[in-house]
Amino acid sequence: MKSVDKALGFVRRVVRGMDGYVPGIQPGPGEKLVKLNTNENPYPPSPRVLEALHAAAESAVRLYPSPEATPLRERAAALYGLKPSQVICGNGSDEILAILMRTFVGEGETIAFFQPSYSLYPVLAEIGRARTTSAPLPRVSRSSEMGDIPVPSLKAKIFLLTTPNSPYGVAFPTGWVERLLDRFKGIVVADEAYVDFAAESSLPLLASHPRLVIARTLSKAYSLAGMRAGLAFAHDELIREMMKVKDSYNMSRLAQVAACAALEDQEYFRTSRDRIIATRERFSRTLGAQGFTVLPSQANFIFAVPPLGLAAGILYEGLHSRGFLVRHWKAGIVSDGLRISIGTDGEMDALMRAIEEVRRGNQ
Ligand SMILES: *Cc1c(COP(=O)(O)O)cnc(C)c1O
Repeated sequence: MKSVDKALGFVRRVVRGMDGYVPGIQPGPGEKLVKLNTNENPYPPSPRVLEALHAAAESAVRLYPSPEATPLRERAAALYGLKPSQVICGNGSDEILAILMRTFVGEGETIAFFQPSYSLYPVLAEIGRARTTSAPLPRVSRSSEMGDIPVPSLKAKIFLLTTPNSPYGVAFPTGWVERLLDRFKGIVVADEAYVDFAAESSLPLLASHPRLVIARTLSKAYSLAGMRAGLAFAHDELIREMMKVKDSYNMSRLAQVAACAALEDQEYFRTSRDRIIATRERFSRTLGAQGFTVLPSQANFIFAVPPLGLAAGILYEGLHSRGFLVRHWKAGIVSDGLRISIGTDGEMDALMRAIEEVRRGNQ
């Protein structure tokens, strides 16, 4: 075969030089692992989702979907007390973030975020040849301390605020987001992927803050990670600008149908969410009693630093070999801990036993 070198020479230099986003491991079919590494919901979506998908399947493949996901926009707007024109839908919240970058951030312009935050942000910046600036996010031991974190003075076009944060799980109170909007002069994006598990959302600020954009996903609390359904809320004039740069049919017909049905079944949503929160609290207490430092999570995962003498990397490997997949970053400021998604009670009990086994083997 001929060498591809010449062809590769046409690839944009920035793309050739970058690594790309590294997602959490997705095991292949037949690999039996308890998957607690990418914050998926351990429970299935509402049965209404499957019914709606079956009903829609016939026309779903042949016909284009609604280009602006109109039924879903209307459903989400009604649920959150907004106008449909204040909502944009995306192929997952990841696409929403890409749309935000295309809308607001040009080459050489800057995006701001806390370190750590969702690790996709710097990758999006690289693709768009944007710069990044960041401030360290201090670790707190109580949720009430989050309001005391100083608002960083960063200069940028947009501030991407992961709240609840990933991988720490901690959430910024609404008053803090308001102060950020006060001090920071650009667009504030509240990336609320985990907000359904949290005490507060920035949604009440939307009406009085036209520089605020809220990004949501149905991947986590609504168990639709495989469908790819994301939302953003903002002033309708901002949404109109964002609409211009999205792919023309950016959300599949099935994804739209599934998302509508999932949002419709609020009772099911609340039951599944409450169960995950209860498991999170119980699991956090158990880990804490075992000497782990557990950050106060308002998400469907926890960030835990093992006790002295047990390195996070060793624990990660020990759990992996026992069939449990959690998230560990080998380098950087979060390498001392593990991010563990909240599974079913049974899964968390089994994980706890595996953790104790690894600890005994390590001593
Ligand atoms: C999971 C996640 C997303 C992306 O969600 P999708 O809708 O699955 O693309 C965005 N932001 C944060 C902080 C997340 O954790």
